[in-house]
Amino acid sequence: SLNMANVLKLSDPQSQLLDNVDVFIFDCDGVIWRGDSLIDGIPETLAKLRAAGKKMFFVTNNSTKSRAGYKKKFDGLGLTEIPAEEIFSSSFAAAAYLEQSKFPTDGSKKVYIIGEVGIGEELDLIGIPHLGGPADSEKAPDMGPGGRLEVDPDVGAVIVGFDRNVNYYKIQYAQLCINEGGAEFIATNLDAVTHLTDAQEWAGNGSMVGAIKGCTGQEPTLVGKPSPLMIDYLESKYGVERNRICMVGDRLDTDVLFGTENGLQSLLVLSGVTSEEKLLGPDNTITPDYYADDINAFFQTESE
Ligand code: PLP
Ligand code: CA
Repeated sequence: SLNMANVLKLSDPQSQLLDNVDVFIFDCDGVIWRGDSLIDGIPETLAKLRAAGKKMFFVTNNSTKSRAGYKKKFDGLGLTEIPAEEIFSSSFAAAAYLEQSKFPTDGSKKVYIIGEVGIGEELDLIGIPHLGGPADSEKAPDMGPGGRLEVDPDVGAVIVGFDRNVNYYKIQYAQLCINEGGAEFIATNLDAVTHLTDAQEWAGNGSMVGAIKGCTGQEPTLVGKPSPLMIDYLESKYGVERNRICMVGDRLDTDVLFGTENGLQSLLVLSGVTSEEKLLGPDNTITPDYYADDINAFFQTESE
């Protein structure tokens, strides 16, 4: 299609991109690793970028781990030089959002979680009490005659993240907190499907968020990609210049959109969920500045 005419496939020479970028923001799954396996060549490429003076951040929409949990994952993959402060998970983003929106941290308000351990770990670090999450995975509400589910009146926000043990109790608890208690509805991310295994696509957090949208009629506040929250945070904390940042990801509707909507340069890599056919096909409307097979292309020449 016509809008694809300007997508440049990275090949020799790449120096133009490297010269024009001071900061790389890397998506994680599909760029750095796939599932639990590091993508070939990544340690060497990151080392070369670091040696070239590039600043790097790692941003994942997967909320199941906290920033500390991801630091362990990077360490386990041998990427030990990456500090926790350069890692941004959507679980961290949710906590940062509450902190910045003046959600009380004196314990007077609580958060109800649909999600795994990552969100609660991040809230612990900023002193926001929470309930739900793994603690409610075995529960069922009393649906007998006169049965009611009583919810904590101090819940001021519901955070909905990926939860492999989502159940009717959690959905009803969240519904009451939002519809009756007026709690804010926050989504870590809206990824429709994810690649938990290489064998097939798996229902992503879009399904958990969809359940809560369905029973509340409300739209959530999104904190993960493509929301601008993380780039605003990086800008205020590190003073980065947006047009000198390149967002690198494998997904068009989260990563590339995060780049194009926020004034960043963008590079789509084909090492994850998006094929060249899909990128260049007639149904795609999201256009990165560049694309490449993977990030090792930064330091490869066409003949290699
Ligand atoms: N959410 C879940 C549950 C995932 O498993 C994944 C990828 O593994 C993602 C989101 C997307 O993560 P990323 O933004 O790092 O591609
Ligand atoms: Ca990805």
